[in-house]
Amino acid sequence: MNLTHTAGVHGYTMVLREGQQRSIDVYRLKQMLTRDHLTGTFNRMHFFEVAVRECARKKRYAKPLSLVMVDIDLFKRVNDAHGHAAGDQVLKQFAQRCMSLLRPSDMMARIGGEEFAILLPETNVDGAKLLAERLRATIAEVYMDADSRRLHITGSFGCAELGENCNLETMMADADAALYEAKQTGRNRVVGKQA
Ligand code: GH3
Ligand code: MG
Ligand code: MG
Repeated sequence: MNLTHTAGVHGYTMVLREGQQRSIDVYRLKQMLTRDHLTGTFNRMHFFEVAVRECARKKRYAKPLSLVMVDIDLFKRVNDAHGHAAGDQVLKQFAQRCMSLLRPSDMMARIGGEEFAILLPETNVDGAKLLAERLRATIAEVYMDADSRRLHITGSFGCAELGENCNLETMMADADAALYEAKQTGRNRVVGKQA
């Protein structure tokens, strides 16, 4: 199997030896290739593959496309105070709570340690901010279970829309800048940049 962890991957190559074919569960294999095994979100490689495609679609059909960058607040403290295993439990619950509020066409991916990207087809930046605010509020109002403790966790959200003559890179930079502003202005916040 040939995997590359970079943007612009257009497919996977799998070489099966004779006799192996019957025992391969194709659905499971696809999950393994496209998902982050801890959180169940899509993985970084799959995110870039889909995001490049969605950017091209947006240009062709002139439909809006937005991105929300999400980062758990002060997550290092969770690990330091409660241990890495408790941190993993929090990461998983955080991602699953967010995913439960998304539409089937939205795509949430883990793109770094405690950082996620949510791609929102046919959504402008105002729609992205509304969704991000719903995610922020839901996360902030529930407790998460971590090694028999209940923790109060928050997240910061940066939203951006793909502008005319822009590309995935610029949309990600805009969403990152918005996320940075959300962190700088107190965390547990949503900031959105107009396209
Ligand atoms: P900020 O609000 O500014 O984002 O603060 P932060 O503490 O969340 O940010 P920082 O980047 O300092 O820390 C991120 C932490 O996330 C550090 C790293 O150990 C932890 N982390 C990254 N990946 C994992 C993981 O898979 N499991 C666990 N348990 N921790 C992880
Ligand atoms: Mg963080
Ligand atoms: Mg981070």
